[in-house]
Amino acid sequence: MTITTNTTTQTTPLTASSQPKMIDKFGRHIDYVRLSVTDRCDFRCVYCMTEDMTFLPRKDVLTLEEIYQVGRAFTELGVSRLRLTGGEPLVRNNVIALVQALGRLPGLRELLLTTNGAQLVQMAAPLREAGVNRINISIDSLDPDRFKRITRTGRLDKVLAGIEAARGCNFDRIRLNTVIMKGYNDDEVLTLTDYAVERGLDIAFIEEMPLGQASDHLREETVCSNDWVLEQIQQRYTLQNTSDTTAGPSRYYRIPGERSRIGFISPMSHNFCGDCNRVRMTVEGRLLLCLGNEHSADLRKILRAGNEQNNRRDEMAQLEASEELPVSSELKAAIIAAMDLKPERHHFYESDYAQPVRLMNMTGG
Ligand code: SAM
Ligand code: SF4
Repeated sequence: MTITTNTTTQTTPLTASSQPKMIDKFGRHIDYVRLSVTDRCDFRCVYCMTEDMTFLPRKDVLTLEEIYQVGRAFTELGVSRLRLTGGEPLVRNNVIALVQALGRLPGLRELLLTTNGAQLVQMAAPLREAGVNRINISIDSLDPDRFKRITRTGRLDKVLAGIEAARGCNFDRIRLNTVIMKGYNDDEVLTLTDYAVERGLDIAFIEEMPLGQASDHLREETVCSNDWVLEQIQQRYTLQNTSDTTAGPSRYYRIPGERSRIGFISPMSHNFCGDCNRVRMTVEGRLLLCLGNEHSADLRKILRAGNEQNNRRDEMAQLEASEELPVSSELKAAIIAAMDLKPERHHFYESDYAQPVRLMNMTGG
């Protein structure tokens, strides 16, 4: 049985009839983990990165085997959904081997991935075959020049081709992720919605969050409330409220007669922390307990057990071998202990509160 008090995190032991559960000190059940597989990316989106990024030195980046160990530890602790993200997860060498290994984890119900879509023409089918159930593809404009301005280096035609490739691969669902920003793309709410609806794709509008300093604009001038986005969509579509959550903070609406759902992730205008079911691991092995706070635990220290030199030479062989070995009990104990650090809420809309300095690519968005 799960026993929770107001002050301690506990997990239930695994029995034949029950999975263990991680419950934080505010009573929230953590069953969803986002694993960042790289801080690098082929795009430089204006809300996510600066133009002249410095990326992590190789030695600080977890190996595929280390990421796998963390994913496995979480599933053994009752986590049923893992999402691979970054940075751009598809620029990580041999990411398919990691997906395959994670896809074989017995406790896992869903393996998810968030991508900028630029490599999906080659990667969509291997990802599906390797066990990815659902995929999120980010797209903020359907105008090639504007797409370039927002992503700085991205090409719209490649992403559109990637979306088509993904559509042909029978994923359980495909969702487009869109950040609407005043002065960049706030006149594209309806065109992006139409694009999704015509193809039976879900679309989620995400409010821009103050993670790190944006170099091309002031976030307080560009941030666009999802209440306004919703009003724009309601001018063309009838939206029906749903209780669908897809294990996240999205509030979903359905359009009668259509497959698509319209989601709103509104950290700036609506606090959803009371329902937070997730934690994130950066690719340095820092377990972040909240997107909007710095509370974290250093899992890399435990994974490397004092030996800070990672050995990437045999990354694939190490990954294969680690599927046969038990997960370290120290790692699981550290994860359980970290749940007590999970803060009650973020403070994104409080101007006198120190916001995180890490950018989204370092956070594992
Ligand atoms: N590269 C992949 C992609 O773009 O989908 C995965 C990583 S990206 C950091 C994950 C999501 O975070 C994307 O949908 C992106 O639009 C969103 N994102 C990045 N920075 C953000 C910010 N400051 N506020 C809100 N969303 C942000
Ligand atoms: Fe890259 Fe995704 Fe960040 Fe854009 S949002 S820079 S695609 S990691």
